[in-house]
Amino acid sequence: MAPAIDTLRLTAEEAVGLLERRELSAAELHRAYLDAIGERDDELHCYLRTLEEPDGEGVPIALKDVISTKGVETTAGSRILAGYVPVKDSTVAARCRAAGLSLLGKTNTDEFAMGSSTENSAYGPSRNPWDPTRVPGGSGGGSAAAVSAGLAPWALGSDTGGSIKQPSALCGNVGLRPTYGTVSRSGIVAFASSLDQVGPVGKTVRDVALLLSIVAGRDPDDSTTVDSPPVELPTAEDLTGIRLGVPRELNEHPGIEPGVREAVARAIALAEELGAEVGECELPRSVEYGLPCYYLIAPAEASSNLARYDGVRYGPRVDAPSYREMVERTRDEGFGAEPKRRIMLGTYALSAGYYDAYYGQAQKVRTLIIEEHRAAFERFDALVSPTSPTVAFPVGERAADPLAMYASDLLTIPSCLAGLPGLSIPCGLADGLPVGLQVVGPQFGENTIFRVGHALERALAFDTVPERLR
Ligand code: GLN
Repeated sequence: MAPAIDTLRLTAEEAVGLLERRELSAAELHRAYLDAIGERDDELHCYLRTLEEPDGEGVPIALKDVISTKGVETTAGSRILAGYVPVKDSTVAARCRAAGLSLLGKTNTDEFAMGSSTENSAYGPSRNPWDPTRVPGGSGGGSAAAVSAGLAPWALGSDTGGSIKQPSALCGNVGLRPTYGTVSRSGIVAFASSLDQVGPVGKTVRDVALLLSIVAGRDPDDSTTVDSPPVELPTAEDLTGIRLGVPRELNEHPGIEPGVREAVARAIALAEELGAEVGECELPRSVEYGLPCYYLIAPAEASSNLARYDGVRYGPRVDAPSYREMVERTRDEGFGAEPKRRIMLGTYALSAGYYDAYYGQAQKVRTLIIEEHRAAFERFDALVSPTSPTVAFPVGERAADPLAMYASDLLTIPSCLAGLPGLSIPCGLADGLPVGLQVVGPQFGENTIFRVGHALERALAFDTVPERLR
C-alpha cells in the first residue's frame, strides 16, 4: 500500500526526496494528484485537460496552456486554437521532460494570457481556492490555483505584465517572473514578444528556484536567451548585508487596500529584524507611466503576433465563399472580446503616421523606466512592494470594466517593462485572503531575490494551504 500523500502540503522538493528514497513511485504520485483533481477541480476549474498516465519517472508538473506540448492539445484559453495539437514540445516542456518531470495537465488561462482574473478564458473562469466566489488572478490563474489547492506540486506560467506574480499573490503561493532572456520562449504561444517570459509557481521559494534551474538557459531556438548565472538554492535564514529599497510610489499608491499595505509593511519590518538595511527610494515615472506604456507596447506586439491565426495555419476554420471572408469570419468567431480589443488598439498604435506618436513614444518611456530602475539598484539589492494592490476580487467584479482589470497589474508592470526578475511570496492575510510581497531584483539578480524570499518565508511561516481546505 502506498503511503497517504497530502498533496496540499507536499512540496516538490519533498516529492523529489520521496521518489529518490523509493518510498513512492512516480505513478503513485501522479495518481495522488489526479485524485485531488478529481475531488476539487470541478469547483476550481484549474485544468483544461489532464493526463491519465505519467510520462516520466519524476515529480508531476502542470503547464499553463500557452506552453506547447507535443501531442497534447494547447489552446491558450482560446477557441481559435481549439483542437490544436503541437507536433513539437516547447523548449521548456522539453526541458521538463528531459528532467523526468511528468505532465499532469494543462492549466487554464485568460485567452492568449490577456487578463488578470482568468475570466477571459474561452473555457470558463478558474476560481480561487481560498474563496471560490473570487478570482485566482490571471492570466495564469489555473497554475496558481492548482498549486494552492494541492492539484499540482508546482507549475509553469508565463508573465507579460504580471501573469505569474499576481495570481501567485492572490492564491497565496510563490511565483517568479525571471529576467527577460533567462527562459526560452520557443514554443510559447506569443502575446507580446519583448515582454513574455515563462516562470515557475510553487509552494516555496526553494521549489521555484529548483524549477527555474530546470528550464533556464540559452536556447538556440530563441535568440533572445542567454546563459544566466547558475541558480543557487537559498539556505540563509537571515538578511545580513542585504539592502532593501522601498519605492514610495509602489507602496503608497492610493489604490492599495489598507490590509495589503499593513501586511507588506509588517513583512518589511521583519526583513529589518532579519538584518536587512531598509531605505526608501523613488520610481516616479515607472508607476505613473508604466500602465499606459504597457498598454501600447503589449497590444502593438500582440496585434502582430495574433495575425497568424487566419484559419489556415492553426485550429478551426469558418468556411466562406472567399479567402478574405473565411479569414474574417474565423477570426471573428475564434477570438473573444479581449484579444479583439488588443488587436484593434495595437493595429491602431502601429498604423502609418501613428507609430512615432504611440509605439515609438512608449519605447522611449520604457527606456526611462529602465533607467529609473537602474539608478535604484545602484543603492539597493532588491526592491519590495505589494504584488497586487488588492486581495482576490469577486468573480465578475471587473469583468465588464477593462480599465479596472488593467489596474490589477499597476505594481507588477513597471519591473516587467524593465525586463527585471520579480518574485511574489505570500506575506500574510487581509480579510482572510492572501497578500503577496513583490521582491524585484536587478537583471539576473534571481539568486538575490531567492535569498530575500527564502529568509522572509521562513520567518513569516505563512501557511499556504487555504483555510477552508485544512
Ligand atoms: N494582465 C496583464 C494583461 O492583461 C498581464 C498579462 C500577462 O502577464 N500575461 O496584459
